[in-house]
Amino acid sequence: MKISVLGATGSIGASTLDVIARHPERYGVHALTARASSESLLALCRIHHPRYAVLSGMAEDPGLRRRFAETGTELLFGAAALERVAADPDCHAVMAAIVGAAGLASTLAAVRAGKRVLLANKEALVMAGPLVMRAARDAGAELLPVDSEHNAVFQCLSDHKAVRRILLTASGGPFRALPTDKLDAVTPEQACAHPNWTMGRKISVDSATMMNKGLEVIEAHWLFGAAAETIEVLIHPQSIVHSMVEYLDGSVIAQLSNPDMRVPIAHALAYPERIASGAQSLDLVLLKNLSFEKPDERRFPCLRLAYQALAAGGTAPAVLNAANEVAVESFLAGHLPFTAIARIIGDALDALGTGPAGDLPAVLAADAAARRTARGLIEARMGRAA
Ligand code: NAD
Ligand code: MG
Repeated sequence: MKISVLGATGSIGASTLDVIARHPERYGVHALTARASSESLLALCRIHHPRYAVLSGMAEDPGLRRRFAETGTELLFGAAALERVAADPDCHAVMAAIVGAAGLASTLAAVRAGKRVLLANKEALVMAGPLVMRAARDAGAELLPVDSEHNAVFQCLSDHKAVRRILLTASGGPFRALPTDKLDAVTPEQACAHPNWTMGRKISVDSATMMNKGLEVIEAHWLFGAAAETIEVLIHPQSIVHSMVEYLDGSVIAQLSNPDMRVPIAHALAYPERIASGAQSLDLVLLKNLSFEKPDERRFPCLRLAYQALAAGGTAPAVLNAANEVAVESFLAGHLPFTAIARIIGDALDALGTGPAGDLPAVLAADAAARRTARGLIEARMGRAA
């Protein structure tokens, strides 16, 4: 089976290639992509020998193309090449692991081509849930969740009609117990130091604000056709129970493992079979304690904003996602305090409301408008602060 790994130089990309390399008799690499980290991508090509490599954020460079050709890989440039390698008839499965809205077009291309799509890029589903799900049905694509919580729910789901609640667990991030008056002064480095997972910087900040869980509520709504009021978030600081499904009879089914993304990746890759992932066996005796608590809405206002956008429907989740991306980028650049991230998103949602999201141009227009609005709000804030 040939796999295209979109976002190969990232954290999920690395875990995916680790699992693939454990099963050379089963999997080969069709394409590897990155935005601009050409040296990391070249190093991966020397190991995995894909047919194609893509630098989607770079313009044509003949010198680079020659260096990749020496390893036997054809290098393509520009964003359109992502869609090409995602939809290529010679590729069987696509790992969608680009971060943010930048992954939407290629994820949708893989879905429309009827591939097995391993979905890490949750933002695609947040922005365009109905479009992606409809395209998957129309094309017969298999959309398999890689996000650990959704992969857990997928593993726990048997009778859809008998589900009472979906319980999404969250670690609570690095600031779960920090006094709230200290949140204003936290740095990007503190926000990115996640207690249980090593991830890209954007999702790390999303975990610290719990917007990650908000995006995951929307993701779960579309993936499992679950009403918002049946999706609950529980803080579980040990990150061992990755999520749970409660049935009408009161049974609760949970999926447990050490926090290692190779577990859900291996599950989605081999489904319905099981393969070794490289993850360590879970030692519950050593662990001793699994605890759960309700999230504090004042500490994590982003969670409420996500439920609000889901209830508003239409383009509101795309606005939520885009405003979040802009605010997080600005926080990481040192231009915005941590606590202002939620305020910018809330103000962007209030300013733009919602509209019909029936096709991709409508979603992309809402994304662009939200980015303009969020940037304007941040500039106004910086002006006031100066
Ligand atoms: P990352 O920042 O480590 O890697 C991102 C990858 O996407 C890199 O290969 C980068 O080159 C590429 N990329 C970034 N911007 C791009 C752009 N504009 N155009 C094209 N390519 C671009 O991110 P990550 O932590 O691996 O996360 C990837 C996705 O997986 C995100 O949607 C995240 O929410 C999701 N996810 C990650 C984890 C995790 O443990 N890291 C867990 C669950 C879900
Ligand atoms: Mg997750």
